Amino acid sequence: MRLSLSAIVLGLSGLAYASTNASTTLTSSLSTSSGVLEIPQGSTCACAKLSQAMPQSFILPGSQNYTTETVDSYWDIRADLSPACVIVPSTAGEVSEAVRIISTCQAKFAVRGGGHMNYPGANNIDAGVLIGLSNLDAIEVKNGSVDVGPGNNWYDVYSALEPYGRVCIGGRMKTIGVPGLSLIGGFHYFNNKYGYAMDNVISYDIVLGNGTLITVTRSAHSDLFWALKGGANNYGIVTRFELRTFDVPKISTTIQVFNETHIPDFLSAICEAAKLDDEDPIAAGMIATITYNATTKIPQGSVLGVQAGVSMPPSQFANFTKIPATERINNITTMKPWADTLDSPKQTMRYFSVQFSHKTMKPDAKVLYSIYSAWKDAVDVIADVQGLYPTFVTNVISPTSIRVAKTNGVGNVWGLEEEPLIIWQFSTGWDLAQDDIRMEAWSRQLAEHLHGLNNKLGLASEFVYMGDAGEWQDPFAGFPGKNVDRMREIRSAYDPAGVFSILSYGGFKLGL
Ligand SMILES: Cc1cc2nc3c(=O)[nH]c(=O)nc-3n(C[C@H](O)[C@H](O)[C@H](O)COP(=O)(O)OP(=O)(O)OC[C@H]3O[C@@H](n4cnc5c(N)ncnc54)[C@H](O)[C@@H]3O)c2cc1C
Repeated sequence: MRLSLSAIVLGLSGLAYASTNASTTLTSSLSTSSGVLEIPQGSTCACAKLSQAMPQSFILPGSQNYTTETVDSYWDIRADLSPACVIVPSTAGEVSEAVRIISTCQAKFAVRGGGHMNYPGANNIDAGVLIGLSNLDAIEVKNGSVDVGPGNNWYDVYSALEPYGRVCIGGRMKTIGVPGLSLIGGFHYFNNKYGYAMDNVISYDIVLGNGTLITVTRSAHSDLFWALKGGANNYGIVTRFELRTFDVPKISTTIQVFNETHIPDFLSAICEAAKLDDEDPIAAGMIATITYNATTKIPQGSVLGVQAGVSMPPSQFANFTKIPATERINNITTMKPWADTLDSPKQTMRYFSVQFSHKTMKPDAKVLYSIYSAWKDAVDVIADVQGLYPTFVTNVISPTSIRVAKTNGVGNVWGLEEEPLIIWQFSTGWDLAQDDIRMEAWSRQLAEHLHGLNNKLGLASEFVYMGDAGEWQDPFAGFPGKNVDRMREIRSAYDPAGVFSILSYGGFKLGL
């Protein structure tokens, strides 16, 4: 559902709270620009109790804070929904209390960290309770690790670590939230040496479905410790992450841009990067994308590479550096200023709505090129879509990045083998809500068709990364079956009432 700010403000005139200092009563419906939402009894119960239990952290529709929490905090306009009320806890204790109240009332609810998961319901809810974590923003740098509240984004964390010359394994774009990314995996530049963000969480404070706050480490609740390494929002609300840090005082960066002639070489270099399998790898990784302008018919490849240390140009990007580029900028810098340039502003871009779809394959440069070519041809077919912004994104999974979890005695839920893989993703932006269904259908059908061809070639992998997935995809189907069974058992043990499955149903869930 899309709501403009003015529509929300106007629409909310239909919502009446009888509000005094001590009590707040919600009427049975909420008017929005998309229609009237019936407020379920559970939400009415929870909102009333929350308003009394923690009035300072409670937000009603109609206020500016409500807009901040339900619209401005989301990257994709498709994620904007209309909760019956919002709670913004300032302490883990408040999170516990909120979960207890919500669960007692049997209210439906959603949880939002950095708000970057971009499909409706993943992190927001119509007519239910939204728990916004923005106020849990503490950061404490320790010796070899950093404690981070879920209200932080990665730029906050890189900034805090900067004076110490240390980095952690987080997001590559500035404003992605810490909690969502850490709970689903976490692609960073240095995966090839240190593994994924999830592999580098040393401990979690988590509020379970019954409101209990526990600390989960390798030795305390070790089963849940494993399940949280990729298990997303199926187990509770994490109120503190302790993240491992690494000594990386300087980074060597490269920005390279390639024209259409060199796109085959560009894709080939991406495949070679996935295959790198050094025993002691140099930490290095990239963002590699192709944009295509459907009007001018001009594609452009680009790599934004980062390597630990001061090698200039960064040695691990030699396969890119040997390709003639239209632009090439190498630099020695540090993580904070680099991250500062890579913003992903929430809803301030032209392409408000973005559909992700992706599949995974073994690296094969010729086939990857044929996938890219099919995508480009398919973009031409939807060139009439207003505000069309198509991007072909790749992410590499190197054997060394998988080896970290294989050898650290913990593992993660992905259960991948030590083999090179490439994620190829369509990230497609557009302007108008009327194109939502068309864009999802286009993206899904194209991805499935091309994946089917890869299957026939023996190149397909069923791995699906939650951060790059469309809402139509099921990442759990790509994990080993025994891991999913174990994840479900752990869920039954820690959340027997199904608070994070039944009451909080949005996002990538294990299923009932
Ligand atoms: C522009 C852009 C760039 C991206 N770049 C990268 C990248 O470089 N690397 C990468 O790996 N991924 C990347 N992603 C994907 C990103 O990691 C996911 O969207 C991730 O979920 C974002 O985390 P968040 O906190 O912002 O998410 P949110 O949308 O706030 O939350 C995501 C999910 O986690 C749940 N959740 C949030 N906080 C908690 C908590 N404390 N406890 C339990 N559950 C919680 C939410 O309910 C929701 O289901 C990118 C996405 C975008 C849109």
